[in-house]
Amino acid sequence: MMCIFCKKDSSSSKSVEHIIPESLGNKSLILPKGIVCDSCNNYFARKVEKKVLEKPYFKNIRYRNFITTKRGRLVPDKTLFPHKDGGWANVWLDEKGFIIDSKDQHIFELIKDGKINKLVIPIIEQPKENDCEVSRFLAKVAIEFLTDRIKNDDDWIEEIVTKVELDPLRNYARYGEGNFWKYHQRRIYGQDARFLDPVYHPEPYEILHEMDILYTEEMVMYFVVVIMGIEFAINLAQSETDYFMSWLKKNNYVSPIKRFTEHMISEKYQKL
Ligand SMILES: [Zn+2]
Repeated sequence: MMCIFCKKDSSSSKSVEHIIPESLGNKSLILPKGIVCDSCNNYFARKVEKKVLEKPYFKNIRYRNFITTKRGRLVPDKTLFPHKDGGWANVWLDEKGFIIDSKDQHIFELIKDGKINKLVIPIIEQPKENDCEVSRFLAKVAIEFLTDRIKNDDDWIEEIVTKVELDPLRNYARYGEGNFWKYHQRRIYGQDARFLDPVYHPEPYEILHEMDILYTEEMVMYFVVVIMGIEFAINLAQSETDYFMSWLKKNNYVSPIKRFTEHMISEKYQKL
């Protein structure tokens, strides 16, 4: 068995690979052990995913959506307690309430005395564009998603490993080789958007992430992933986004992520 990134023997590898990190709420999109070797798995966790997860935008969405780390810990973020003696403090939020640092005891006293009756949580609307770590992260997710699509077919796994057309993207993800790999980024629905599927899921739900492959008329292939309403698109063979942008234009800017019976029911989305 060969690793889809470094192409070394991965038969003795023990870890499964989360295509989207667990710390972004992924519990089901997983590649079996050996597809990505332990050494690549470890490298991505430390050098790519961790850096993305710690970016202000991703930290902010994890904080506001109570998404825990893979060890089950909540992610703290700066929160404002509007009062002249209040100010900014590190806060851990969950469904039941919030926790503040013991060094911010004075804020706790102000709340108890009824002098503060709200907390202000900033919303970071989008990640910074053209970010090198986000780009390498997308490259990693793209290769893994492509593999997931065909993972029950042994010959095809080998085709992913040996496909030279995928080498620039895989080496960019794994070794940072080559120049910055362009991607396209935009918000397609609000962070509070809810969806409903009368056939499969008649109760409202939110979508943490969804993804697909787009082939344009020109036979250019893009990997498209939406993470909490932000759509990212990356070309699998070369660093460009022009064909994607013209595809969007031709399709009235509707996302290539296909919805069948599913539809959006509400979108509460406010700009700061
Ligand atoms: Zn490897």
